[in-house]
Amino acid sequence: MSENKAEARRRGVGTECVQGGWTPRNGEPRVLPIIQSTTFKYETSEQMARLFDLEESGYFYTRLQNPTNDAVAAKIAALEGGVAAMLTSSGQAANFFAVINIAGAGDHVVCSSAIYGGTFNLFGVTMKRFGIDVTFVDPDATEAELEAAFRPETKALFGETLSNPGMNVLDIEKFARVAHAHGVPLIVDNTFATPVNCRPFEWGADIVTHSTTKYMDGHATAVGGAIVDSGNFDWEAHADKFPGLTTPDESYHGLTYTKAFGKGAYITKATAQLMRDLGSIQSPMNAFLLNLGLETLHLRMRQHVANAQAVAEWLEANPDVAWVNYPGLPANKYHALAQKYMPQGTCGVIAFGLKGSRDDAQKFMDNLKLAAIVTHVADARTCVLHPASHTHRQLSDQQLREAGVAPDLIRLSVGIEDADDIINDLDQAMKTALGK
Ligand code: PLP
Repeated sequence: MSENKAEARRRGVGTECVQGGWTPRNGEPRVLPIIQSTTFKYETSEQMARLFDLEESGYFYTRLQNPTNDAVAAKIAALEGGVAAMLTSSGQAANFFAVINIAGAGDHVVCSSAIYGGTFNLFGVTMKRFGIDVTFVDPDATEAELEAAFRPETKALFGETLSNPGMNVLDIEKFARVAHAHGVPLIVDNTFATPVNCRPFEWGADIVTHSTTKYMDGHATAVGGAIVDSGNFDWEAHADKFPGLTTPDESYHGLTYTKAFGKGAYITKATAQLMRDLGSIQSPMNAFLLNLGLETLHLRMRQHVANAQAVAEWLEANPDVAWVNYPGLPANKYHALAQKYMPQGTCGVIAFGLKGSRDDAQKFMDNLKLAAIVTHVADARTCVLHPASHTHRQLSDQQLREAGVAPDLIRLSVGIEDADDIINDLDQAMKTALGK
């Protein structure tokens, strides 16, 4: 996969989206084939044994690796400018694996509080049950405030490039500086920005994760995730913090990942150990669908950004709208940060509130015709969700505010239809809901 990194430097993002990952040889299928096989045949049992011991590379069982998945992972690694990547069954699995690959019971993680609700629950409840403690910090915390959250047993700092649903922009350089000062990697969930609009490794992030379910797939057909390693974090320099990577793994006959695999250590460990034991592989069929999505990612992101900008400007000028959070608006709190990290634009997601009650927000959504109410975000079709009534409905208004979700927040995921049609739909739904 390091070869792909070199290619990524030579080739543009668009070329990488279309052609990365799968390079057929003479007579091979032009389109990435779906290797729908759980298992792979070998001539001798000795060779199979060498594969099991990681002494030789090759496929033996799809729970660990599959050629279709690997081609798509290589494309994503190239897009992010990383050295290696792996696909997971979902974005949840990607974030879980990214952390537990380097943290275990007794360890601690510092995490921005402005993250997807599912990740918030994974880190704040489930990982705590596993003995991994998590401290949530304000996404706009100063360096000193971030520093104060660190402990000797802290193993990672985590944040989202663009937070779901609040659309906060992560100051990646600041977070990377603090993480590195404490000898730990910065893990960034880059789902909303995608590598088309932001490449967190260029700003100091060490590991990138994705819910590929979102823009990467782009058509709402396949749940999936990805983890990408920049290859930049020096695990050996902090060997005492990361014994899982820097000391022998008895479940692999005493193999030490950093010594055996160098820059490939982190992803190899996650594949060989976590996939082996926990088995959250993406299906080859889903990887194939993901690859189709990736082939147009660069074009779709351009259209999402252009449409969302037009919609955000319309919302901002609308007297029935209480507030709009879209980093592309010059008045937005995160505009300068977004310009720095995402000069070509952020994504298609807009958070806004109507002047009115929770009921009015619901009425507005019920009257939308083009935009669908779905528990999804970031695909080609415009969709909408009211977190207070849906994903976060168990929380009171006060609890919602603490989780960074305003009770009136409507999450609008602007698709790639014609912007005028999207705006007309919002307009008619708002007028009907507010009795105008
Ligand atoms: N990360 C972000 C930013 C998300 O928005 C989501 C889902 O919405 C996830 C992770 C979880 O991904 P998945 O639904 O693929 O498990």
